[in-house]
Amino acid sequence: MSQSAPEYTLAAHPTNVGDARSSTKPVRVTPTLVIGGHDVVVAAGPCSVEGYDMLLASARHVQSAGGTLLRGGAFKPRTSPYAFQGLGEEGLLLLASVREQTGMPIVTEVMDTRQVARVAQIADVLQVGARNMQNFPLLAELGRAGKPVLLKRGASARISELLLAAEYVMANGNDRVILCERGIRTFETITRNTLDISAIPVLKAETHLPVIVDPSHAGGRADLVLPLALAAIAAGADGLIVEVHPDPSVARSDADQQLTFAQFTDLMHGISLIAAATNRTVRKPMPSPIVPNIAASDAAARSHDAQRLAQEARAEEALAVVAA
Ligand code: PEP
Ligand code: MN
Repeated sequence: MSQSAPEYTLAAHPTNVGDARSSTKPVRVTPTLVIGGHDVVVAAGPCSVEGYDMLLASARHVQSAGGTLLRGGAFKPRTSPYAFQGLGEEGLLLLASVREQTGMPIVTEVMDTRQVARVAQIADVLQVGARNMQNFPLLAELGRAGKPVLLKRGASARISELLLAAEYVMANGNDRVILCERGIRTFETITRNTLDISAIPVLKAETHLPVIVDPSHAGGRADLVLPLALAAIAAGADGLIVEVHPDPSVARSDADQQLTFAQFTDLMHGISLIAAATNRTVRKPMPSPIVPNIAASDAAARSHDAQRLAQEARAEEALAVVAA
């Protein structure tokens, strides 16, 4: 066996090594949307799906500002088991309902092999979070899921390890993998993670897979999202995934890093200038479908918000009684 065998040799390799042009092969997400083509594609939305009204408001704003996909976590990987874990199945239904209203394709995280079939029924893109980048059974299951996979780089993962994680999905039958640089853990503590800008051109040169950047989890602070997003597009990223919330101060997860609607509008403006400077454009979202009546699922989603508020009020009353 050759001692100089490369660390990765497999499917995620460019077909035209050494060619100055990008060898990125676009990943088809829907019949009208690819990631990794000429246009920059933006996914945005709240860190967690918290309810119907906030999700629909976020989606409508993201779409009106030029974002194409809606992000939102239904299953949340939280550092503490006592932190909000996401609405789970209810969150998936809310995402489906908002897609029906807006026509926006959905990106949402899947954390466990047991969730793959269900999340794949609803999501347009299945996100693997940084904490699960080396969950090999999950990656293999996603190879059989029939939906594109957004694979986030682990906080301590080398580029070669990210590529081998992508290989797990591809080797199991799914070549629709999109890589995501979201910051790595370094000695620096002022920022949540350190955005590895070099990973963008390295991945673009080493693989045919589209590369997008998450400036929200990289910096961990809303004020850093715009500069990191501009840098990512300038460095050749195929797109961004950004956290946006109607009122970040009350967000149930990642409150410090979520953008307000106004900040997101500014970001879209800024990246369109950088895209133009590099001969690209930001992809325009599809117009919202005309939904004639409030759909049944929409009514169900509204009653979900009402039920949740009532539940919260009951819980608060119970606490007040205990405290009294
Ligand atoms: C997220 O996108 O909400 C998330 C948890 O990201 P990461 O896995 O990159 O930490
Ligand atoms: Mn988050």
